[in-house]
Amino acid sequence: MKKLNIEIKSEEEFKHYKAYRDGYFVIIDTTRRVIHTTGCPYVNISNFREKVLKNASKNGWYYFTDGLVEGREMFRAEKCKHCRPE
Ligand SMILES: [Zn+2]
Repeated sequence: MKKLNIEIKSEEEFKHYKAYRDGYFVIIDTTRRVIHTTGCPYVNISNFREKVLKNASKNGWYYFTDGLVEGREMFRAEKCKHCRPE
């Protein structure tokens, strides 16, 4: 199966992928790269608006991936300690 790695640039995309059960969000900012489950409370629309929309992606990027291993490798992301994706 081909793995998805999609940059999320709009609220509509955010809501669409947030509703997926089998997938992960990679959130990249100036200090960290963290991979989360889609259900993690840190993956929320207000943070997305702040980091991506308001700041025009100068301080943050959101990606959706359907592969945990691939997502971690591609983005060199650490696992969120709150939602502990596996
Ligand atoms: Zn998380």
